[in-house]
Amino acid sequence: MASDPFSNAMAQLAQALKFLEIEPQILEILKKPQRILEAEIPVKMDNGITKNFSAYRVQYNDARGPFKGGIRFHPHTDLVEVKALAFWMAIKCAVVDIPFGGGKGGVTVDPKKLSSRELEALSRGWVRAFFEYLGPQKDVPAPDVYTNPTIMGWMTDEFSKLAGKWRPAAFTGKPEDMGGSAGRTEATGHGGYLVVDALAEKLKLEKNKTTVAVQGFGNVGYYIAKKLHDAGFCVVAVSDSQGGILDKRNHGMDPENIMHAKKAKGLIDGCYCVGTVCDCENYQKISNAELLELEVDILIPAALENVITLEVAKKIKAKAIVEMANGPTTPEADEILKARQIPVVPDVLANAGGVTVSYFEWLQNNRDEVWTAEEVLAKLKPIIENAFEKIWAMSQAKKVGLRTAAFVLALTRIIEAIKTRGF
Ligand code: NAD
Repeated sequence: MASDPFSNAMAQLAQALKFLEIEPQILEILKKPQRILEAEIPVKMDNGITKNFSAYRVQYNDARGPFKGGIRFHPHTDLVEVKALAFWMAIKCAVVDIPFGGGKGGVTVDPKKLSSRELEALSRGWVRAFFEYLGPQKDVPAPDVYTNPTIMGWMTDEFSKLAGKWRPAAFTGKPEDMGGSAGRTEATGHGGYLVVDALAEKLKLEKNKTTVAVQGFGNVGYYIAKKLHDAGFCVVAVSDSQGGILDKRNHGMDPENIMHAKKAKGLIDGCYCVGTVCDCENYQKISNAELLELEVDILIPAALENVITLEVAKKIKAKAIVEMANGPTTPEADEILKARQIPVVPDVLANAGGVTVSYFEWLQNNRDEVWTAEEVLAKLKPIIENAFEKIWAMSQAKKVGLRTAAFVLALTRIIEAIKTRGF
């Protein structure tokens, strides 16, 4: 039975603290968010009835810079989940050494059940609820599960209206014609691809013989699958909330084709057609549970937290795991994977490409600059690769897992900032 995400986050913190000397006052700071904001957002629905939605913003730690982190719209989102995600954001920003702290937001809502007008009203309501605590030098939100550039555009517009001036640096992940960065949409997947590439080299895996399974086919899952396919890796299985498909030949599928088919049919299907060409025989339908247990080289959870539990960890046949979702592995599962010598590249490194390019977007907005996608991805590469090398080396030197190494690196930086600023 998996415990809640914040308990998992605190267990990960405790594990890393075994390798750090820390004053009790600083430990108290790290164990709690600096500020928790909650609001009920009223939205007049299309049927004329007003409905309230529970909304959150957790500002975990800003020792290294403004709070930074996405906003999740999901029916299961609650304060405990948002607290965990906010903590992981603080760690993540420190892992890649960008000048931000950690925060996260959310609304308990199934956005698939809202009309576009209702979704816009909810998004603008979120900004009005938390306005005084947001801003380019205070707290800079971004997209997360079931939020996207359109929503960030509405939020930036609402924030700017309330501020009485155009403030594009208040949100990242915006549409490009509103100051969004080229390359932001694909950034998390691209960063993940760089991590898989570096890991494959360490594990001496040959790209064109390396099989990969990806759970989740949204922004992150799609782009990492596409980037890996384009680079020559064999993506043999993908899934979304409704299930997935496995390439029975183990050749690898083209995620772009699968996305075309998903858009046409509304789900990932074992039989997909591009134009008049259909490919129905080579694919087998699989469940999300089956995907996690496939005999592949690299398993990539890219959907939600707590999917790799103790029981699942015992059955995993992959040689390595790269966490693109936040918090997909429970601490108990981590122990099993460690004992089974299956390396796990943690979320705070593997999916840090997104927040790094969010930082680039914030920089461009603050400096009135516009960078090309090529420039953005070229600047991302050394940041991710250096972080990976540092964490890999520390993991080898201290004989600890990659997650603990990443936490030790990040916590060292956060603690230093807390001390320098004074507390
Ligand atoms: P998204 O909304 O674009 O996609 C989510 C995907 O997960 C969809 O394909 C959905 O069908 C699938 N899904 C939902 N429930 C599922 C289930 N029970 N089993 C299998 N699949 C399921 O969201 P996203 O932005 O791709 O985020 C995915 C994960 O990556 C989240 O954990 C998020 O916090 C993390 N993340 C996202 C970013 C980013 O830049 N978007 C950055 C860092 C981390």
